[in-house]
Amino acid sequence: MVKERARILIVGGGYVGLYTALRLQQKLKPELKRGEVEITLVSTEPYMTYQPFLPEAAAGSISPRHVVVPLRRVLDQCRILIGEVQSIDHAKRTATVTTLATEEEGAGAEQITYDELVLAPGSVSRALPIPGLADYAIGFKTVEEAIGLRNHVIEQMDIASSTRDPAIRDAALTFVFVGGGYAGVEALGELEDMARYAARYYHNVRPEDMKWILVEASNRILPEVGEEMGKYTVTQLRRRNIDVRLETRLDSCADRVAVLSDGARFPTRTVVWTAGVKPHPILAATDLPLNERGRLKCTPELTVDGVTHAWAAGDAAAVPDVTAAESGKETAPNAQHALRQARVLGDNIAHSLRDEALETYSHKYVGSVASLGLHKGVAHVYGRKLKGYPAWFMHRVYHLSRVPTFNRKARVLAEWTLAGLFKREIVSLGSLEHPRAEFELAAGGKPPLDPKLDPKGSS
Ligand SMILES: Cc1cc2nc3c(=O)[nH]c(=O)nc-3n(C[C@H](O)[C@H](O)[C@H](O)COP(=O)(O)OP(=O)(O)OC[C@H]3O[C@@H](n4cnc5c(N)ncnc54)[C@H](O)[C@@H]3O)c2cc1C
Repeated sequence: MVKERARILIVGGGYVGLYTALRLQQKLKPELKRGEVEITLVSTEPYMTYQPFLPEAAAGSISPRHVVVPLRRVLDQCRILIGEVQSIDHAKRTATVTTLATEEEGAGAEQITYDELVLAPGSVSRALPIPGLADYAIGFKTVEEAIGLRNHVIEQMDIASSTRDPAIRDAALTFVFVGGGYAGVEALGELEDMARYAARYYHNVRPEDMKWILVEASNRILPEVGEEMGKYTVTQLRRRNIDVRLETRLDSCADRVAVLSDGARFPTRTVVWTAGVKPHPILAATDLPLNERGRLKCTPELTVDGVTHAWAAGDAAAVPDVTAAESGKETAPNAQHALRQARVLGDNIAHSLRDEALETYSHKYVGSVASLGLHKGVAHVYGRKLKGYPAWFMHRVYHLSRVPTFNRKARVLAEWTLAGLFKREIVSLGSLEHPRAEFELAAGGKPPLDPKLDPKGSS
């Protein structure tokens, strides 16, 4: 039984948003039924994205629909609002939200009042002011980016196959990835693997014609799996003819030429930016305390420091790591923490509403698994190091156990099983991004420029 009626507002429908809401649905079931508690979740998308599956979605091993979890179906006790929180005035317990209807209505943004706030907008790509980056590069955080990149890579192979100009062919077959964390390494590993396979269906594109380049500013990649496994990954990628450049930065990609700090220049139509994340900019539009890196200052109980009725977790939150030997360390922005923090957060809101003691968030990072393409992987979990097929298999088992809902687990497993029986899909559906093109042409309108023929390229 809660002390008094509570309206809970959750901002963000990612790991933390989804799992916190699920936990609250479970813990506050009777209160929700009696109408004593109301949960509203605001998210820019109607689904949660299981980001660790994005590289496999880009490779075509999992269809895009199955790497996302529909919020309305899973959170049937919550009010789901698809929109963007623009600002939060916590002193007044009010959030300003715009939705798809806001502009059409012309009545201005919606004001949502609440009693308890859960702030979980995650992070955004940490882009640097590098010439050409904003114009030509693409990130790798969303399902749209992953599928867009897949289509783009196959399109580049089509361009290379059809052009008579060696310079165009060379640029089309050069793929530059910046950032050696799991997003960059897995995306590169999976896409290179897919492109290598696809090349067998082109009469004039061979795997050795393609240049895949990984640029990393530090002296190691995949810090998540430890130093030894990171070194192993570099060796494996180089054996696949992938050009791994450590202690190197991207200085420019203006005019579609990637210029690296070691002096190398690569004309290219593909620059993928995965060089880290920063907290979501919405945090700056609140009256809540942020640390020097823009994350919300939090307590180990997942309350926002020095503020009542505000909670946070995940990539947006600076949560003290109580398991660390040195003081002042924060939990890293990853799914392992986001998922576990969300459970404690849900429990603590229920405790707080019932006037019970709060739990402390305590979890020691257990390591990580990464896929480097079909049947290739690397893992360092609970002190155990695995390479190649066993690591790849472990990656699949681990993520299958983690992806939310039985429905998604079953669909992903079915896809993997079917993929083992049939040949890989190598088709590009980039034209899906222009669904009216065909009809506009038939109706006599001006057809949009075919991205393949666009001198500026398609991404
Ligand atoms: C390619 C890739 C692979 C990864 N692989 C791994 C892995 O193998 N292991 C691992 O531990 N971690 C992995 N991660 C990291 C992990 O996915 C993140 O740490 C985790 O998603 C963080 O959860 P979160 O809830 O804080 O943020 P998110 O899951 O990003 O959710 C944030 C949500 O908030 C919404 N939102 C943002 N702003 C607003 C707003 N103004 N109004 C309303 N809604 C808003 C967003 O649309 C999104 O739905 C990977 C990340 C990427 C990109």
